[in-house]
Amino acid sequence: MRVTVDRGRCVGSGSCALAVPDVFDQSPRDGRVVLVMQTPDPHLHEATEAAADFCPVSAITVGER
Ligand code: SF4
Repeated sequence: MRVTVDRGRCVGSGSCALAVPDVFDQSPRDGRVVLVMQTPDPHLHEATEAAADFCPVSAITVGER
C-alpha cells in the first residue's frame, strides 16, 4: 500500500489524523494533513483505507506500492 495526500485539497478536518495517527498528522501551522507514513504497515491498511473513504474532500489516495 502506498498513500498520497493532496495538501492543496485538504480542508483540515482532522478526521484522518484522529483515526490513524500512525499514518496521518495535522500541521500545527496550517491545520492541513501531514503524511507520517507513506507505506503503512499491514495492520494499518484497513484503517487507512477507511480514512481515505471518510475524507470529506477525497484528499487521500491509496494505491499499490
Ligand atoms: S480527512 Fe481529508 S480534509 Fe480532513 S485532515 Fe485528513 S486529508 Fe485533510
